This record gives sequence, C-alpha cells and structure tokens, in this order.
Amino acid sequence: MSATLPLLDSGAPESAAPLPPKPGILDVPVDSLRAWLQERGQPPMRVGQIRRQVLAGRATTFEAMSDLPKQLRTELAESFSLFSMRVERHLVARDDTHKLVLRLADDRMIEAVLIQDDGRATACISTQVGCGMGCVFCASGLNGVVRNLTTGELLEQLVVLRNLTDPETTNPERAPRLTNVVVMGMGEPLANLENLLDALGTAGDKNGLCIGARHVTISTVGLPAKIRKLAESGKQYSLAVSLHAPNDELRTRIVPTNDKTGMDAILAAADEFYEKTGRQVTYEYVVLGGLNDQASHARQLAGLLTRRKAHVNLIPWNDVEGLPYRRPQDADLQYLIDTLRKAGISVKVRKRKGAEIDAACGQLRRKVESGQPA
Ligand code: SAH
Repeated sequence: MSATLPLLDSGAPESAAPLPPKPGILDVPVDSLRAWLQERGQPPMRVGQIRRQVLAGRATTFEAMSDLPKQLRTELAESFSLFSMRVERHLVARDDTHKLVLRLADDRMIEAVLIQDDGRATACISTQVGCGMGCVFCASGLNGVVRNLTTGELLEQLVVLRNLTDPETTNPERAPRLTNVVVMGMGEPLANLENLLDALGTAGDKNGLCIGARHVTISTVGLPAKIRKLAESGKQYSLAVSLHAPNDELRTRIVPTNDKTGMDAILAAADEFYEKTGRQVTYEYVVLGGLNDQASHARQLAGLLTRRKAHVNLIPWNDVEGLPYRRPQDADLQYLIDTLRKAGISVKVRKRKGAEIDAACGQLRRKVESGQPA
C-alpha cells in the first residue's frame, strides 16, 4: 500500500556501470594509506587531506581533490575507489525524505535514509546486511543476517546522504549539512559495535562530518553486554531500546531473541547506561494493533517505566507486505499515550516520514531485490 503514491523521482537505477573492484578509500586503514603514500614519496599529511576531502569537502572524485598533486590524484584513482557502493535506487518523497538502496561491492544491498525537517538533516543508516534478530513484524530480518558492514561502508552511507543536503540552502526548514544520525536502518547496531564506534568517531571529528555524539542515537534490540560497552565508550551517544512489549511472555513472541536475554537484564543494562552517561534512555514501542496495545499492556508498561527516567517513542507499525499485523486503532493508541503520560513518562508518537517510499526498515530493499517496481 505504501509504495503506490507518485514519486518525484523516476525510481530508476542511477547507473548501470560495472562495480569498481578497487577498495573504497574510507575502508583503507590510515596506517596502510600512509604506507601506500610513503611508497610514492608522499608525506603522511596527505592522509588527512584525502580523508578531509571526502568527509568534509564533498569531493566525489579523486580528480577533484585540488590540494593534491595531479600525479597523486591519478594514482589514487588507479588504486582505490572513492565510494565502494553505488546508488541502486533513489526515491524522494514529497516531504523531502530521500531513501536510497545502496549496492555494495559484493553486490549485497542495504538502505539509507535522509530525513529533513525543522532545520535538521538526519541520516538513518544500516549496520548490517540483513538482520539476525528476527523481530516478527520487521522486514529487515526476514532473510537473516549476511554480514556486518565495514567502517568504511558505515561512513560512506553518511557521506552519500550528506551529499544530498544543499550547502547553500537558505530555507530555515533545511540544514546545509547532516545534523543528526539515527542508527536505525537495517541490522542490529550493537552486533557491529566496534565498526560502528569507529565510524561514529570519524563522523564526530571536526575534519570529518562534525556530528556531535549528542546528536547520534543508536537503537538496539537490547544486548545487555554491548549496552554496557557502549556506556564505557565514554561518548554521549543516545541509546534507544526496542522494548515492544511490557512483559517477557509477549516480548518473546514479538522479539524472539528475548527468550535468551529477558527484559530484566536489558532494563538493568539500560539503567546502568543512564547512570554512567547521564543520557536519558528512549524505549521504542512498535504498536501492533490488538497485539501489544490493549489497556492491560498500557498499564503494565507504565508500571515498568514509571520509576525510570525514560522516554517512550511509540511507533505505529508500518505495513510490511505479507506480514499478518495491523496498525493500532486511534482509541487504543490514545489510551496508551494517556496512560504513560499519567504515569509521568514522556511520550512521543513517531511521525511517518517518507511513508509513500517505504521508509521503514528493509522494505524497499526487499522490493528491489525481488524485482518489484518501487
Ligand atoms: N535492530 C535495531 C534497529 C532496528 S530499526 C533495534 O532493534 O532497535 C529501528 C526501530 O524500528 C526498531 O525499534 C524496530 O523494531 C522498528 N521497526 C522495524 N520495522 C518496523 C515496522 N515495520 N514498523 C514500525 N517499526 C519498525
């Protein structure tokens, strides 16, 4: 249903050129790049210049890196690709949400989304090809997980989305660069924590994308040991925990990994995260009509969170073709909101962004992979 509205973009693949076999420059470890440069008689400072050109300078070819010697630009282009991935599909919704299906060097596909409103430009990035968590309502995990994304692939998504922002914009609703990151695309971010922290570190750098840790939100199904690791990173990232149910019995039906973990361990780790970082935790709750949105669920959820300094994000389910769930009825959603608010919990209902372009996790990739028109 969500893909039937007219698009501003044709939705056709942007290029059918064969994939570059060369490694993406953002995936080349700094030490290796330094050594490569040294072999060509180039000083170590070139590493910073090259990375700055891609990350901060919006260069899309080595040729355009005008602060590098001409010969070096040619040699770089012979050995590396500036982007290891290419845009397979690019959709733009009426609200200026951009959704990209990106084809990786190994031909796998992921999704990345740019959401623009209120003077912010928010990148939503994927962390894995597929997802291993198997949440029953989600399109991303229908075929399991294939692999983690590399640090370079994580960064490239940000760069590709940033390049869609207009640096000259005078529209107060738009931002001239990326202002926020939500790690809420395909995959389980905490299952790829090392690469993610690496990429976000670069993204936060003043020679990188200049996105401060407080403007980054990492969403997890709830892996307690990794939540603690994230807290120990000493960074001020925001944590969002996908709760989706107020008790273990129901949560295990909706989020199968809960069977092994249990909610107590997740809530305890999230409490520790708050104590250590001072960052209020957000609990995400996908509202599935008739399944987790009844009065008893509302009261139980309120009881669970009232003593915690928590924020709740209610996400009415986005339809995924072939799955037997439905969106909540207005009255049930309102009761949920009122019950949580009465318990002193701050609640927001997630706005639908780019609904007509399948902006929910993993839906568009599925269509592209199965050859359906988007
Ligand atoms: N693996 C991470 C990131 C998932 S995407 C996690 O579990 O948090 C971010 C949020 O979108 C999660 O809360 C996820 O459960 C939710 N989500 C996934 N598919 C959805 C759908 N079809 N409708 C509404 N929310 C969905």
